[in-house]
Amino acid sequence: MVADEEQRNQDLNVEEELLQDSDCCGNGCTNCILDHKPRPSKRVLLAGKRNVILSYTKFRLLRRETLVESKSESGGQVLLLHFGHAPEETEAEDTVLDIPPGHHVMLRIGSLLRPYSPYWSDFLAREFRILVKLQAGGPMSRHLATVQPNDLLEFRGPIGQYTHDPKTAKCIYILAQGVAIAPTLPLVRQVLENEEDMSRVWHLVCARDLQHVYFREELLEFVQYWNYRSCLYLPHQQCDSIACQDAGYCAPECFHFRRSLRYKETAKVARLDASGLATYLNPSIPGQRVLIVAGDSTFQKAMAQMATQSLALDPANVYLL
Ligand SMILES: Cc1cc2nc3c(=O)[nH]c(=O)nc-3n(C[C@H](O)[C@H](O)[C@H](O)COP(=O)(O)OP(=O)(O)OC[C@H]3O[C@@H](n4cnc5c(N)ncnc54)[C@H](O)[C@@H]3O)c2cc1C
Repeated sequence: MVADEEQRNQDLNVEEELLQDSDCCGNGCTNCILDHKPRPSKRVLLAGKRNVILSYTKFRLLRRETLVESKSESGGQVLLLHFGHAPEETEAEDTVLDIPPGHHVMLRIGSLLRPYSPYWSDFLAREFRILVKLQAGGPMSRHLATVQPNDLLEFRGPIGQYTHDPKTAKCIYILAQGVAIAPTLPLVRQVLENEEDMSRVWHLVCARDLQHVYFREELLEFVQYWNYRSCLYLPHQQCDSIACQDAGYCAPECFHFRRSLRYKETAKVARLDASGLATYLNPSIPGQRVLIVAGDSTFQKAMAQMATQSLALDPANVYLL
């Protein structure tokens, strides 16, 4: 029985591709594919199926939605892309798609490689969704700006190192910047959807203003859970009133700003800084402190440094996505 299982695991491992330097996208990802080789997870091994994304495989674009059209200097177009696995005719159907929370996938177009972090995936249907902010003049952004439903794109993964053990209750601080809120959603769902998981989540979301907060509906659903708290940090929030236009941002007591918030939505017109982080120390709540930071590398470094001090974190429990 044990031998059978070992054989099956070995068979599944054979499907993994050998890695070469050219498999790295060269963007200096914290979790580089060369250090975190895509492997079958425990979940896949238990299911006894093959994870279709372990080597580059084709996915069909099922849906494309434009969330933000703005082409201002502060932000380009933001697209929501939904992909489904497109099996080859000869391919066995007995496959799944496993992209664990906190892991990303690599998109390959010709020799161009870029990582993207799914915010939703379906194990059995083999589908996933990403939120993409197009960068002006970026080579992959140029390709993605023109992709249309039914187009086929190649992805490989999952790449990452974050794992969560639901048996140990923790205080999990998740800091997200702009579109990088997307990969933090599966991390939150993983805790909230497991009734036996006693961990608490603080989700601190940094965006220019309310218009640039993605997934507000999902955040409002999370707020229903006893173990979830969130706060939006919106330093450039500005309404049309003369006072706020003159100041350059809304005052904390601004009526228009307060009215634009939804029931149980907490927000501050401020940057998240060391003193703001220190308000989440919660010394009376037991449990190991864990920090997860999602954003560009400047945000990740600055937040990890500030939060390590303000929240008295062990650097070993800091994860940069
Ligand atoms: C682990 C990881 C996961 C990622 N997940 C996502 C994702 O889910 N959605 C997404 O839209 N992007 C994500 N990115 C960024 C993405 O991989 C590409 O860099 C981005 O789509 C731009 O690619 P490009 O080839 O068009 O431009 P690039 O050549 O990569 O960049 C063009 C210009 O934009 C700047 N730039 C690139 N990315 C950013 C950024 N995030 N913030 C500010 N400036 C930036 C670059 O410094 C450069 O000046 C992720 C990056 C990493 C490392």
